[in-house]
Amino acid sequence: MNQSDVIVIGAGGVGCAIARELSRYKITVTVIEKECDVAAGTSGRNSAVVHAGFNNRTGSLMARLCVEGNKGFEAVCEELGVPFRNTGKILVAFDEEDMKILEGIVAQGEQNECEGLRLMGREELRRVVPGVDGIGGMYSPHTSIFDPFSYCIALAENAAANGVIFQFNSEVTAVEKTEDGFCITAGGKTYRSRILINSAGLYSDRISEMAGVPGYRIYPCRGEYFILDKVAGELLDIPVYPAPKPGIGGLGVHLTPTIDRNIIIGPSAEYTGDKGDCSCTQETMDRLFAEARALLPSIERRYIIGNYAGIRAKQAPPGEGGFRDFVVKEEESCPGLINLIGIESPGLTASMPIARMVRDLVGNRMDLEEKDGFNPAREAPVRFRDLTEEEQARLIETDPEYGEIICRCQKVTKREIRNAIENPLGARSISAIKYRAWATTGRCNGGYCLTRIVDMLTQEYGMRPEEVTWRGPGSAMFSGEVK
Ligand SMILES: Cc1cc2nc3c(=O)[nH]c(=O)nc-3n(C[C@H](O)[C@H](O)[C@H](O)COP(=O)(O)OP(=O)(O)OC[C@H]3O[C@@H](n4cnc5c(N)ncnc54)[C@H](O)[C@@H]3O)c2cc1C
Repeated sequence: MNQSDVIVIGAGGVGCAIARELSRYKITVTVIEKECDVAAGTSGRNSAVVHAGFNNRTGSLMARLCVEGNKGFEAVCEELGVPFRNTGKILVAFDEEDMKILEGIVAQGEQNECEGLRLMGREELRRVVPGVDGIGGMYSPHTSIFDPFSYCIALAENAAANGVIFQFNSEVTAVEKTEDGFCITAGGKTYRSRILINSAGLYSDRISEMAGVPGYRIYPCRGEYFILDKVAGELLDIPVYPAPKPGIGGLGVHLTPTIDRNIIIGPSAEYTGDKGDCSCTQETMDRLFAEARALLPSIERRYIIGNYAGIRAKQAPPGEGGFRDFVVKEEESCPGLINLIGIESPGLTASMPIARMVRDLVGNRMDLEEKDGFNPAREAPVRFRDLTEEEQARLIETDPEYGEIICRCQKVTKREIRNAIENPLGARSISAIKYRAWATTGRCNGGYCLTRIVDMLTQEYGMRPEEVTWRGPGSAMFSGEVK
């Protein structure tokens, strides 16, 4: 039996931010996650933008937490060694009606206390984003991009270094309210806690119901994307969005540079009724490409190297669409249960302020005395490709494994793969290595490096080929030997 003061269900960006925030205090915290690693849900499937907060309804929790999250995001990334780049963002107007929408957005943004928003004319638009056509636009200086995988990994590693326990491959299947807390069944084990934090994203409605608080319902709304090769990254260094049309259920199909200098195009918005269906469809892809081309005519189909989809945790049902605010609260009918429901975009941007809100709710129930030894920092992993030639040479001298390239597209060395395999959270799937070292993500989609990574796992780490999985149990890469 595992006994903790607090259990957090879900190791997405929000659950990890909460865990890290709570690791400042003299309490015991366990995070229970059904997948084999962090960021396996929506937190690894999004636009990776630190939003400024002008899109959110004035006076809402969403708007307040987004603006607050935006203001502190760079500092957190610096503290945790997470790649972050302040790019700004452009919203493009194609006609006068769009310009009116943008005027409204500037006004809303100002009410939300976003700083520096302004409209721009055609000339300036052309100057800032030369390939983009439109009659004008809006500029947001405080929008940024970041790496959401690194963000979740870093939060979790820092939380773990400060004493939080992570239990992966542990799906919560039952929650019982006891006299002094909760009894949770997950992955065949029983856990007890005084406080239960439900940060299960798309499945938060189900967890709440398990704990005896029905009435929430999450409607999954899929957003598909495709990824363009780095050659396309040279065409754009700032996220470009269309002026949002009312009622589309998202921000519209946008072009966003990634921290690694690819471009992502998307997302679509489609209620699917299936929380696990992250497939991409030809029809939507064709439409996305056409819409993206209307924004940036110089992109070409041959630049596409991959696709993915993320699912919005919408509280508004299909047909109704529209706005529903984040729910972050302790349930009156179930003391000790802190529910986080409908944490859709901008949930990652807002994750730190959400975590602080949750900490205050926890603080209402138990003493939160700060730990003396809390260390807020985590060292960034070495990124060989980002170093100068002199720095690279010095590293190779200290460790020859830096001289062996395993992923040619992304220039990832053997030492970096080893560091990823030996990660502090003990996650050992191929996807865990991919998101830590960024191998397999280039133009060849792992054609060159995948077998070399598998060789390392089997020959140097003693894993049997059948034990190597893509993403944990149920995703074996091999079923046996052919000769
Ligand atoms: C298309 C799209 C684009 C977006 N773009 C942005 C953006 O640019 N910027 C931004 O700030 N936000 C963006 N968001 C929103 C952001 O991704 C989410 O708000 C955020 O990731 C939510 O994090 P979370 O931790 O609440 O949920 P998740 O990341 O989904 O984590 C929940 C975790 O709970 C686990 N879980 C579920 N059920 C159980 C169970 N029974 N037992 C154990 N574990 C369980 C899941 O496996 C998962 O890991 C976007 C979202 C989408 C869909």
